[in-house]
Amino acid sequence: MQILWKAPMSLEEYVALGKAVEFPVPEECPVCRRKVNLKRHGWYLRYAAREDLEVQVSIPRLLCPACRKTISLLPSFLIPRFQRTVGFIVKVLGKKLSCSRQVAGFYWHRFLRNINRILAFFRDLCAKLPLPKDPKLKAMKLREMVEDFPAEEFSVLFHQRFRRSFMAI
Ligand SMILES: [Zn+2]
Repeated sequence: MQILWKAPMSLEEYVALGKAVEFPVPEECPVCRRKVNLKRHGWYLRYAAREDLEVQVSIPRLLCPACRKTISLLPSFLIPRFQRTVGFIVKVLGKKLSCSRQVAGFYWHRFLRNINRILAFFRDLCAKLPLPKDPKLKAMKLREMVEDFPAEEFSVLFHQRFRRSFMAI
């Protein structure tokens, strides 16, 4: 299982730190929910890409002594199954960054698939959230709110709440 943690650093800083990066170890196993001492269980490499940078980053893994499941700790600028950073994806969604129509359409499609969860997330914060009735305008307003949250913070909290990313299938 992958969980996200709010990394107080940029992608460059994270890469520079390498395996010296200090990450928080959860007090309970996110899989079996038992209070255990999660053990360090090595690292793996994955790609991270932004508009101006494409690098490999080391991701720490933990092992639960109770359920024997491994847990990967993704820094908040990444989301599961995407090489592109959250910042990149949200900029493309908000048309602040141009990329191929195909990629932009794919991101928007994924965003719309999660729109009810995204709405529930913001409704939790503000029950009387004024939103347009029109579905497309409503989605665009929610996209702005994700950008302003700011996006990485939103991504982590969303993942904690729904146990999936805001761009998941
Ligand atoms: Zn466990």
